[in-house]
Amino acid sequence: MPSLIDFPLEETFAERMPGFYAACPPASVPEPSLLQFNYALADELGFETEPADSNTLAAILSGNELPESINPIAQAYAGHQFGGFVPQLGDGRAHLLGEVVDLNGQRRDIALKGSGRTPFSRGGDGKAAVGPVLREYIIGEAMHALGIPTTRALAAVATGETVMREGQLPGAVLTRVAASHIRVGTFEFFAARRRFDEVRQLADYVIDRHYPEHADEEDRYLSLFKAVIERQASLLSKWMLAGFIHGVMNTDNMTISGETIDYGPCAFMESYHPLTVFSSIDHGGRYAYRNQPIMAQWNLTRFAESLLPIIDDEPDLLVEKATEILNGFMPQFDKFWLTGVRAKLGLQDTEGDDEADRALAEEWLELLEQNDVDWTLAWRYLAAAVEENLEPLQSLFRSNEVLTPWLEKWNSRLCNPTAATATSMRNVNPIYIPRNHLVEDALTAASDDGDLNLFEKLLSVIEHPFDERPELEEYAKPAPSQFTACYKTFCGT
Ligand code: AMP
Ligand code: MG
Repeated sequence: MPSLIDFPLEETFAERMPGFYAACPPASVPEPSLLQFNYALADELGFETEPADSNTLAAILSGNELPESINPIAQAYAGHQFGGFVPQLGDGRAHLLGEVVDLNGQRRDIALKGSGRTPFSRGGDGKAAVGPVLREYIIGEAMHALGIPTTRALAAVATGETVMREGQLPGAVLTRVAASHIRVGTFEFFAARRRFDEVRQLADYVIDRHYPEHADEEDRYLSLFKAVIERQASLLSKWMLAGFIHGVMNTDNMTISGETIDYGPCAFMESYHPLTVFSSIDHGGRYAYRNQPIMAQWNLTRFAESLLPIIDDEPDLLVEKATEILNGFMPQFDKFWLTGVRAKLGLQDTEGDDEADRALAEEWLELLEQNDVDWTLAWRYLAAAVEENLEPLQSLFRSNEVLTPWLEKWNSRLCNPTAATATSMRNVNPIYIPRNHLVEDALTAASDDGDLNLFEKLLSVIEHPFDERPELEEYAKPAPSQFTACYKTFCGT
């Protein structure tokens, strides 16, 4: 295995896509020190970390001592932010170092975030603070452990310098691993400038890299569009089932690969309310929990607009075809969601009546909403109910009566649940999510006192979200309701 000290990276994006980025080195930082390193991910990527000690890893992954063979770049992209088009965004504080083909044969980007100014920085300082870097680290790892496609964190390195935000904060650099960093906004950047040859070149690159099964099709760009729609529909169903709220679903934060990216003002929902918003900048609730699938489809409409000019077809017919594909988003989302919800309800039988099962699920959601019930625990405790232990579930409700009629319907639909039913439910309904109050405590200790203990403990909990461990009872509990009532998340840029 190659050593991380040599850091041998490929650069197909840089080689094939001149004009899509600016070459620029990361800033050097005064005193890099390793906050966290993801050894399991390093293994998966095929990197040997021995004999590098933590200082060496910090020097490399802060950007201070990159091997000469690496040619860092900042990628260009545009984006619709809260509905308004911004023609130039781009990596203002990130550097793509290159790519590695992992042990499963998947090509993955390795990038630094918070690594200094680039030609896309606009007024920003190009830096990131310890808190947001560790938030991205832990939420990304939680999502991965929950089986949700996501970018991952390879490392977090403190820089030894302060960044100016709401006050002076310690700075850090995140090493991010992604299927790629190509976004809807990458297409928009070139489409908005009417540089359609580049849109085509980007689409070709994306097909080769993410959707090679469509390479030989006659309508390859329409197929690409359809495939991206499907991956996003699947992704959104997973977010919704996990109670995840991204918070800033701008088109520059939506990948073409179908991975979740850019954990800023994101959070997991506690008690179930469809209009939940945590982000301090999302005043209108554009990206509220319930709106996420709609907003994903809105973003994909922007993707379609960027792609249509490169498709050779009769204009009216083309619009008709694209509209049909776009309109397929919601039915696909619904289908993925129903499959997921059946698994969460322990309904093994996929031959069941779709409408009846959907109604059963929706009635359950209504119950949760009306009774302020914790999303994660309600699902988790259904497995105990299958084992005829109703007490944990009932403890979440104000009275048992409200629950009984629904439980009866659910039981009759379950027919003869077995021990295996409860086990399979526990494999899809986590007991541990990164609870917002615990995330905040961990980030505060790390940022204010340089104390990573809480962070590491929380990480070890969320890495195994489905395995209940009795000694971790506190990690399963919702935040105190006063905490959630005024909980706000910030971009931290
Ligand atoms: P984000 O909110 O992280 O998705 O970023 C939106 C845009 O703002 C991207 O173009 C970022 O590169 C840019 N940006 C965010 N924070 C900074 C920063 N501290 N310095 C420079 N650019 C930034
Ligand atoms: Mg972003």
